[in-house]
This record gives sequence, C-alpha cells and structure tokens, in this order.
Amino acid sequence: MSSQHLNDIGHEPPVEGVCGESSPGRVYDCAVADCLFCKIIAGDIPAERVAESSRTLAFRDINPQAPTHVLVIPKDHYPDLASLASSDAGLLAELALQVQQVAEAEGIAASGGYRVVFNTGAEAGQTVFHVHAHVLGGRRMAWPPG
Ligand code: AMP
Ligand code: ZN
Repeated sequence: MSSQHLNDIGHEPPVEGVCGESSPGRVYDCAVADCLFCKIIAGDIPAERVAESSRTLAFRDINPQAPTHVLVIPKDHYPDLASLASSDAGLLAELALQVQQVAEAEGIAASGGYRVVFNTGAEAGQTVFHVHAHVLGGRRMAWPPG
C-alpha cells in the first residue's frame, strides 16, 4: 500500500465495520461515519493530543470545565461505557490506565486529586456518542455534580 493511503500515525485508514473484529496490523478497526471523535482519531479534525497508546487517545477538551480537562477515548468506536465494558474489558482497563497516566503527567494526581466522568446517555449530559472519560482537575470539585 502506498504512503498516501496511510493515516497520520502510519497505519491504514479506519474502515467501517463491526467493533471487535480486529485484524493484524490495524491500530483500530471500527470508525463510524459522522462520529466527531472517530474523525479526531483519524486526524481529520484537529485536537490537542496529550497522550496516545496503540488503542487509546487523550486530547484536551475544546470547552474546558476545569484548569485541566482532558478526554480519554478508545480508538475503537463504542457509543458509551456500557457497550465498551461488555465488549472489551481489556480495552476499558487500558483506558483507565491512560486516565491515570494523563493525571500524573498533568500534575493533578499528586496535587489533591482529580475527577473522572463518563456521561452515559443524553439525560446525563452525553453529547458525543463515542465513549470518553473526562479527566478534570486543577480546582476543587463540588458534589453533587450538576
Ligand atoms: P459529553 O457531553 O460528555 O458527551 O462530552 C463531550 C465533550 O466533547 C464536551 O466536553 C465537549 O466540549 C467536547 N468536544 C466537543 N468537540 C470537541 C473537539 N472538536 N475537540 C475537543 N473536545 C471536543
Ligand atoms: Zn467514534
């Protein structure tokens, strides 16, 4: 395959399909048309990336709600936490590890703590239906959340 067919991290572009049907050499196997975060993963929409693994990506929220506000997502498309947890528990664990690594790198793990939020469903405030962990820190958090 020629280089113009490779995406920004040197792998073949995502293909539409069923999540979880992996094939050797692909970083991710499931991208959904018109999904904002799939487009960020593909590099079609810019984002301020702060960390990346083979199966996860962390980037700054465009509308930060705290001094540190990073989103951590799997590169495979799952609409919400429930679908990820029931389909690929290992990937969920990788996501959690990336959250912790981001918190340490941002200095919020060692300075009083941070909050991790998975809005799940429209009533809970989910607006992008590609599962994402909000990592928030750098200020005191109120409880209950709004
Ligand atoms: P939620 O409302 O829980 O689905 O969270 C979606 C988050 O995505 C919001 O906090 C938005 O500010 C954030 N967001 C939307 N578009 C972008 C973008 N292009 N780059 C980074 N963050 C974004
Ligand atoms: Zn997606």
